[in-house]
Amino acid sequence: MKCSEFKECVCEIVDKRLPEEQTNELMQHAQVCPHCNFEFTSMQATKTIVGEKLHRQSVPSEVYYSIINATLDSADGSWFRKLFGFKLNPAIALVAFAFIAVGIYSMFVPQKRGMPEEANIISQSLKNYQAVISGSIKPQLISTEDAVRTFLAKEVGFDVNVPKMKGCSSCSGVLSDFNGIKLAHVVYKVDEKNIIYIYQASMDDAMDGSTIGLPEEAREELKRTDWYVRELTDKTTIVIWRYKNTLCSAVSGMDKDQMIALLTDKELK
Ligand SMILES: [Zn+2]
Repeated sequence: MKCSEFKECVCEIVDKRLPEEQTNELMQHAQVCPHCNFEFTSMQATKTIVGEKLHRQSVPSEVYYSIINATLDSADGSWFRKLFGFKLNPAIALVAFAFIAVGIYSMFVPQKRGMPEEANIISQSLKNYQAVISGSIKPQLISTEDAVRTFLAKEVGFDVNVPKMKGCSSCSGVLSDFNGIKLAHVVYKVDEKNIIYIYQASMDDAMDGSTIGLPEEAREELKRTDWYVRELTDKTTIVIWRYKNTLCSAVSGMDKDQMIALLTDKELK
């Protein structure tokens, strides 16, 4: 099966509109194809947000983060089990996030003409970071930095940046495709409690702005200084920078100084 066939049907699968046999056939492909699996997972997560947010109240973001932090701190076992095995209802987490994201987004990223929000790299990075934490994006490979880089670089046409990070206890990679543009995602666990998520795309795609792009302010700052750093509310920090021909967009719950210190460690430059 071709990925294009899967993509044509992904909405129908999520909405359960296809005959069982066809669904099974398509899902068999998704099980072996990381791109299509990601497509399916994110589509399903989106449906959950859209379906649920009409009926539920959002929780205050402090509550949301304290639940996540408490869960991360208390659980035993591998950090992925901590991340993905916890009891927080993912629908609630996603709804909470949908509200937080809208808040963050409208505060820091004034709507610019043309570009739809889903194409905004900042918005995608924040959404993916939350999806990693809530478990709706699962790692395709958990390994050493070098192995993760090799795994990701095989599929994308840009240099993938998987720096060795001080205090890192786990590193993993995920591939995806956004409207034909290949994306690489790297997730670190640092110092047992912090998650750093790095979204990576070709700099040309990011600057071209037709499929993915940045708000004017971020674009200009990145062009001028090669960096864009914002501490958002809820202790979420986003750092965007250029690495060779690659745009990297890192999100974590650390503060700005902590995060920049990690990201500017010599390996990264
Ligand atoms: Zn596929």
